[in-house]
Amino acid sequence: MAEDRQHKTRTRLIHAGRTPHEFSGVVNTPVFHASTVLAPSLEAWRQVRSAPPPNYNEGIDAPITYGVSGTPTTYRLEAALCEIYKAGDVVMTSSGLSAITAGLLAVLKAGDHLLMTDTAYFPTRKFCEQVLAKFGVETTYYDPRIGAGIAGLMRPNTACVYTESPGSQTFEVQDIPAIAEVAHKAGAVVMMDNTWGTPLFCDPFALGVDIVNEAVTKYIGGHSDVIMGLLASTRDYSEQVRSTVRLHGHYVAPDDLYLAARGLRTMEIRLRQTGETGLALARWLEGRPEIECVLHPALESHPDHALWKRDFSGCSGLFSAVFKPVPDQALAAFYDGLTLFGMGASWGGFESLVKPTDITPERSATTWPHEGPIVRFYTGLEDPDDLIADVEAGLDRMRAIAAVAG
Ligand SMILES: *Cc1c(COP(=O)(O)O)cnc(C)c1O
Repeated sequence: MAEDRQHKTRTRLIHAGRTPHEFSGVVNTPVFHASTVLAPSLEAWRQVRSAPPPNYNEGIDAPITYGVSGTPTTYRLEAALCEIYKAGDVVMTSSGLSAITAGLLAVLKAGDHLLMTDTAYFPTRKFCEQVLAKFGVETTYYDPRIGAGIAGLMRPNTACVYTESPGSQTFEVQDIPAIAEVAHKAGAVVMMDNTWGTPLFCDPFALGVDIVNEAVTKYIGGHSDVIMGLLASTRDYSEQVRSTVRLHGHYVAPDDLYLAARGLRTMEIRLRQTGETGLALARWLEGRPEIECVLHPALESHPDHALWKRDFSGCSGLFSAVFKPVPDQALAAFYDGLTLFGMGASWGGFESLVKPTDITPERSATTWPHEGPIVRFYTGLEDPDDLIADVEAGLDRMRAIAAVAG
């Protein structure tokens, strides 16, 4: 597979990890349902159990020993993602959240200190407070815009600096190379949640990240029907990460792996389209009087725009807008009459979404400067003009109610 690296990502997405002639020429890797996997002889039994850990770069699959550790359905997807991520290893997990928790557990032990970005996907915070604390790991939250200033928070026992860029809900872009330089000097591991950028728009390893987690649920799955995560790591961490995932008993069902692999093939064209549509809506919102500001790093007005331009090659379709303060019934009029945007959590599918967002319980290291409500938008694959018209009608409804109430 190594020779394929000269091809552009778009091309590699189509061919990566597919080995049709292993499977009677069938284009997509078949779905293997398995618990027991039989060995044909004692020698083969011993061989498979003493096989080296996977190194997809060298064409070495993980050994097939038992369903929970994976089948060709698992390994071909991992190999594809490994190639796209240019990683040492990629291991699938049961959800985006479990990728976060397994990654943290792979690198932390009792007595360690963890630096966690204030804008991490919210359940990550809960995990730090309710699980890691119980096992003697202390967490300090930091301002996502801290950059090299992270040096001031490092302690002798800081084992990991966890990043997410752009940050959840509010889209601050982190200076990952500056953070990684400080962390590595102090011997700490750098983790990054790359769900927003995906490997297509951000290469965390080039920025100095050691372990990447991504919610496959979002863009790779892409059709709002799969929950899955991945951990990609450099060679230095791959055994540690893979064995932690295995020893926790993570298992990803073969039908879901099949859907994720299918999503991967069309991911580039979907991602590019939702990103373009999202940016068009974001620009349109910037011109509206009801909007205080739009939190989208690809907008020139975004405070981290220069960092985004340096470290990302594109944008996905997820961003937020801070509305000027309005009475609650006016806000309800905005949401309740939308016909194309569904109200729901998650994102990355073909359909557009809005999510009422309250970050006040989710932040401790930073103070939020705005008063008005935050609306998180996700633009799907509908026609951008139709989406803008839906939002425009919503803002008109909102203004009409606000005028009566005010
Ligand atoms: C959705 C999401 C997750 C969690 O993924 P699940 O598969 O829903 O558990 C993690 N990080 C980010 C940034 C996300 O958007």
